[in-house]
Amino acid sequence: MKKITIAVDGYSSCGKSTLAKALAKKLGYKYIDTGAMYRAVTLYLLRLGAEKILASASLIASTLRDIDLSFRMTPGKETSEIHLNGENVEKEIRSMPVAALVSRVSAVKEVRKRMVELQKEMGKGKGVILDGRDIGTVVFPDAELKLFMTADPEIRVRRRFNELKAKGINITVDEVRTNVSARDYEDTHREESPLLKAPDAVVLDNSFLSEEQQLEFAVRLLENQDPDR
Ligand code: C5P
Repeated sequence: MKKITIAVDGYSSCGKSTLAKALAKKLGYKYIDTGAMYRAVTLYLLRLGAEKILASASLIASTLRDIDLSFRMTPGKETSEIHLNGENVEKEIRSMPVAALVSRVSAVKEVRKRMVELQKEMGKGKGVILDGRDIGTVVFPDAELKLFMTADPEIRVRRRFNELKAKGINITVDEVRTNVSARDYEDTHREESPLLKAPDAVVLDNSFLSEEQQLEFAVRLLENQDPDR
């Protein structure tokens, strides 16, 4: 089976990573969670004093040079987890302070430039699936399969709330709703690579689809693309 690059973009909390992980497992592909990278940078800035750094382009650039990001397997887990300068920050990057700042950090030109460079390097070769906001438009515009995911906003809020609760994060539905809608707004309105559907992306509205149905949908697209699969 010929390996390809798969780009999964879409709105916040619409199940991009769940589908991307399931597809990566099924196909034996490498999975790269690009949102985790922006979140890890945000966590690093928060620890140092984000406001001071964000006020100066040269400080942002020098801070980025001090950040090492890698995805490593954790014993007992099926997918890799993000490490910030060697520290596993997979749980901490899902916290509310990070979620509240990440869209502002990811709108910064220097941050995007560095993350896109890293993502191109991590995703080079085929047999890779990346999820994010600009994968099919900027990071891998030549990806052979592009999905653009969306879902009813209230369903997304409920899903994110349940996911965070299950992870032991203390949060209300209203806080999740405010954060999800603010990130959607900021991600679609920023100047640098805003969230956009690539013209050749296939829309997947998963409001009423189970995880299995979404996986089937993606696998069928792959099979239709290449009859040898
Ligand atoms: O995917 P996730 O919700 O974890 O992403 C967190 C944030 O990172 C997004 O709201 C967006 O601001 C930013 N992001 C981005 N480009 C990507 C992936 C994520 O700007 N490729």
